[in-house]
Amino acid sequence: MIELDNVRKSFGDVPVLKGISMFVQKGEAVCIIGPSGSGKSTILRCINGLIPVDEGFVRVGAHRVHEMRSEKQMRVLRHQVAMVFQQYNLFPHRTALENIMMAPIQVLGHDRAEVEERARKLLKKVRLSEKADSYPGQLSGGQQQRVAIARALAMQPEAILFDEVTAALDPETVKDVLFAIRELVEEGLTCILVTHEMKFAREVSQRVCFTDRGLIVESAPPAELFDNPRDPRTREFLGQVL
Ligand code: ADP
Ligand code: MG
Repeated sequence: MIELDNVRKSFGDVPVLKGISMFVQKGEAVCIIGPSGSGKSTILRCINGLIPVDEGFVRVGAHRVHEMRSEKQMRVLRHQVAMVFQQYNLFPHRTALENIMMAPIQVLGHDRAEVEERARKLLKKVRLSEKADSYPGQLSGGQQQRVAIARALAMQPEAILFDEVTAALDPETVKDVLFAIRELVEEGLTCILVTHEMKFAREVSQRVCFTDRGLIVESAPPAELFDNPRDPRTREFLGQVL
């Protein structure tokens, strides 16, 4: 579903990705862990075409992202590979339900009644049915983030990229968001999750990639990577966070 081969990216003359290769199969959940500034968000941005790569190959389904030049192609891609950020960026003057409904109606031109039915199902899935008519300001951070996840799902994407979606939340709301993501993964959502939640990464993902200074230093099933890290940099990082 998602394939990167030897992806390189510099900002100015600072190399940020120095040859990233990874492969995510349909229905797989892959976590990316690693120190701040190691290139995790940049990897996600290269996958959904938010930034162009300098070198290498990026494919998502049938889309050859590294070859895309037009803004129109990129827009199509970004609907198929949704991204959920730490800042949920909901529209403050729209209810939870309306936030979920906007893009399918405005961008995909889908029928309003159908979109609403689907949006209500998605709210139910993230356990927020009773908040359909609430505005973002009336919701906790965790609830807003679950609306943002439902909004991403409403576009019926082929995959979702989660970039530290719980990093800014109060600890007591983190677990509801992780629970929602876990359910989606169990239903077969293809996703890449950048996260600092090591327990979650261990329990939910099929594979964990550890990044350091623009490289994937180690990639393995979670039990292997957490219990038996091979690279000294992985060991050092895990020693600090676990
Ligand atoms: P992470 O998500 O692992 O914390 P990022 O991918 O955000 O790391 O950033 C990797 C490096 O690239 C950092 O040193 C960061 O400062 C730099 N960087 C990221 N985006 C830009 C940008 N748009 N312009 C210049 N430097 C950037
Ligand atoms: Mg980041």
